Amino acid sequence: MDDLDLFADDGDAAEAASLTQQAIVDTQQNLGKMLDLMPIGLLIHTQQGIVFANRQACSFLQAEPAILRGQHLLDYAATGDVDAVSHALRLTFTDPDSSFDIDCAIERPDGSSRLMKLTTGSLPWAGNPVIQVLMQDITDQKRAEVSLRQMTITDELTGAYNRRHALYEAGLHFDSAVAGRAPLSIVMLDIDHFKRVNDTYGHDAGDCVLKALARLAHQFLATNTKLDSPLFARFGGEEFLFLLPGAGDQSAFEFADAFRQRVAVTAIDLPGTKLKVTLSAGTAGFRAGDTSFDTMLKRADTALYIAKAEGRNRVCPSD
Ligand code: GH3
Ligand code: MG
Ligand code: MG
Repeated sequence: MDDLDLFADDGDAAEAASLTQQAIVDTQQNLGKMLDLMPIGLLIHTQQGIVFANRQACSFLQAEPAILRGQHLLDYAATGDVDAVSHALRLTFTDPDSSFDIDCAIERPDGSSRLMKLTTGSLPWAGNPVIQVLMQDITDQKRAEVSLRQMTITDELTGAYNRRHALYEAGLHFDSAVAGRAPLSIVMLDIDHFKRVNDTYGHDAGDCVLKALARLAHQFLATNTKLDSPLFARFGGEEFLFLLPGAGDQSAFEFADAFRQRVAVTAIDLPGTKLKVTLSAGTAGFRAGDTSFDTMLKRADTALYIAKAEGRNRVCPSD
């Protein structure tokens, strides 16, 4: 009777163990299903390589789970990001309390590249250290951020920087000039008799001239390699500004006059005709005692006014 009971107990225990085993398998499968439903990629990673990838991670990396197992996340990181990602993984493996957010370009088997935000974290695991890496595709978000930023700093018509951005950059360079780190000059320029262009050829033609002038300025800057991060901005209607960090009075004057000459000889294509315009400019350099960028602007403006008064198509330096 006792033996029979014992036997019956053994049978119960075996059944219980089998149920437990099955429950674990079910749990793992359910957990796997849950992890597959996550819109975020998940990799479970040992130092040797990937041991688990959810469906989203497989889709991001364009690989089947069986292929990913044994591969390494670094196999997919763009060359320029390998060091940073490798550093983050190493620290996450060695310090269980560490976690890193890192942006990484992921290069995929079909040749496409996606920008991913990787979040690393250590997993509580006895023995061989195990970490998780969450992957979020931020390619579209980053693109939207870049184009939004571009919109906030650019003049829509001409593609030149806008006044707001010019003043922001000018403030930074002005602070450098005050600290004695580098000279700073500006060129304020204004198209001569622009109203006549509008009156004669129409407003759209006037817009074409503004766009052409910005194109010429960008080309001029691109070929003028002596300058240190210069900036060209549309400051108002037909008024533009060159910000010339590092340029002293003489080089600012020479720069402005060379641009004036370039514009004067360039025929601008309008629908059905060609047109030349001239411009007048005033230059101003930073002076000890200038309290704000506005003081430089005012000097350049006065010099521009004199250039107009003296007959236009010329550059006047300020005192
Ligand atoms: P000055 O030589 O003294 O500078 O003469 P001006 O005719 O260029 O100057 P004025 O200030 O009398 O006229 C500027 C004109 O620029 C008037 C305005 O309608 C025109 N304007 C301003 N913004 C735009 C624009 O975005 N597109 C066009 N087509 N015209 C513009
Ligand atoms: Mg004008
Ligand atoms: Mg004007």
